[in-house]
This record gives sequence, C-alpha cells and structure tokens, in this order.
Amino acid sequence: MTIQNVMVIGAGQMGAGIAQVCAQSGYNVLLHDAKEEALNQGIANIEKRLERSVSKDRISEQAKQDALARLQPAAALENARQCDIAIEAIVENRDVKTGIFSKLDAYAPEHAILASNTSSVPITELAAATNRPGQVIGMHYMNPVPVMPLVEVIRGLETNDETYKQVAAMAYSLSKTAVEVNDSPGFAANRILMPMINEAVFTLQEGTASVEDIDTVMKLGMNHPMGPLTLADFIGLDTCLFIMEVLQDGFGDSKYRPCPLLRKYVNAGWLGKKAGRGFYQYQ
Ligand code: NAD
Repeated sequence: MTIQNVMVIGAGQMGAGIAQVCAQSGYNVLLHDAKEEALNQGIANIEKRLERSVSKDRISEQAKQDALARLQPAAALENARQCDIAIEAIVENRDVKTGIFSKLDAYAPEHAILASNTSSVPITELAAATNRPGQVIGMHYMNPVPVMPLVEVIRGLETNDETYKQVAAMAYSLSKTAVEVNDSPGFAANRILMPMINEAVFTLQEGTASVEDIDTVMKLGMNHPMGPLTLADFIGLDTCLFIMEVLQDGFGDSKYRPCPLLRKYVNAGWLGKKAGRGFYQYQ
C-alpha cells in the first residue's frame, strides 16, 4: 500500500498542524472536526501559517497554493472511506477516542491504518476498539507540529511490522525523524520530560531556587533551549498534572507523584501561558 490519502480528525492545535505538514508534503488531506467552527478555524490557521512562510521566503506562493489545493474540509467522519491513513488528534479523553476508533474502523477501507496523536491513552486500548488491531498505531507529533522534527511512533501490543514501517516512512516523508517506542505510560517523550518538569516544581516548592534561576540552570547549565518552568507554562500546567497522574497510575510508583505546588496552581486556575498566569505572568 502507498499512503496518498490522509484523513486528520480534530482540527485543533495539533490536528491543523498535522494536516498542514501532510498537505505541504504532497498528501491529499481531509480535515474533520466535530465542530464546524473549529474546522473553519483550523483551516484559517493553516492558511495564515502558510502565508507567513511565504512572506518570510521559506516557501513559494506556488507551494502555498499547492498545499491548500490538497487540503479539503470534511464535515462527516464517513469521509474516512477515502483514506489510506486516519490520524486522530481530538480531545485527550479515553472514551471519546475509543468511540472514534470504533467508528473509523467501520468507515475506513480495510487496508487503512488508524493512527492516534494521543499523549497518554494506551494505543493497545484504542486498537481493542477496532477489528484491525494490527493496523492501529501511535503517531505522536510534538507541538508546534510544523516546527518540531520528532514523531514518536508507538507500537501497540498487536501493531504489525508493515504498519510500523509505513508510518515511520510517512514521518520521514514529512521531514520528521521517527523513533520507535513501545506502548507504555507516557511513551518515551513524556515519560522523561514530565518527571523533569515535576522535579523543577519540587525544587521551587522547597525554596531551593527561584523560578528564573531554575530555568537558568537548565538553559545555561544543560543547554536546554527553554527552562522547565517556562516549558510547563507553555504546555499547560493542567496537561502536565494530567500526564503525571497517568504515569503514577500506570506505574504505581511514588516517584511519579505530582508535586503539590503543581496541583495547587492548577486548582487556582494558574494553567500557564493560555491562562495568563502560571510560573510566570503573561500580559
Ligand atoms: P485541541 O483542543 O486544540 O483540539 C482538539 C479538537 O478536537 C477540537 O477542535 C475539538 O473540536 C475536536 N474534537 C473533540 N472531540 C471530537 C470528536 N469526537 N470528533 C471530532 N473532533 C473532535 O487539542 P490539541 O492540543 O490539538 O490536542 C489533540 C490531541 O493531541 C490530544 O490527544 C493531545 O493529547 C495530543 N497532543 C497534544 C499536544 C500539545 O502540545 N497540545 C502535543 C502532543 C499531542
């Protein structure tokens, strides 16, 4: 099978980014969202980003037009009938995601691969909602998708080699690097990143160093482009807390306990950049 037709489900921050890089890389893309408004917004965001790339001379006007011509909105999930791969990037909720996988399994052609951009739902659980567990896989992009060059390709318990190869090759065709990861809480990226962020919050809570100094230690001392507390604000403190809970539940190990200060900030509504306040204040 050659992947040519991609359906992206969810036109939010990640889905629109995935649809954009696929369309720019020559795939025919259908973008679907449950909400018409979100779908229109997702397409508008893609147009805006492509326009910005043209104005910065990163791509030509023709390349922008070609990408937009390959991108179509799809009002109904039934349009999955035309896809070789469906990439799901909807809300991070197990029940909603398994519901979508079971519907995609019904609509998508037999040969189609069903992929998820989930950060925390086990791929094996999504696969179990379908009759094609061998063709279900994680395709975990990083945010912002057009910029970040990594895709974690996550093998569920039954994911077959052919599916893995196709998806890894697709990631490379998008100018990304694919890493092979087995299905495990937090996969690899968040398993490593989130405990580091959580530890930075413990360091702050215990008064070992200030917010700015903790970030400076990691930027200048470890060559990280962004300090852990700045990064936490960018990701969203609610998301960081949620992923720590996934790690704690999944491994049953107290080393993954979320820092009480992280929980306190989330309870206060200090969710980071999107809320105007987290470890830093944003105007
Ligand atoms: P988002 O809230 O920006 O977008 C989600 C979109 O899904 C919304 O437009 C919503 O209308 C749509 N949606 C919800 N339920 C739907 C349904 N049943 N059918 C169709 N559309 C539906 O979220 P996001 O940040 O783009 O995250 C999407 C997924 O990507 C999540 O699984 C998340 O964990 C994962 N992820 C996010 C990041 C990140 O940094 N934001 C990074 C990696 C992975």
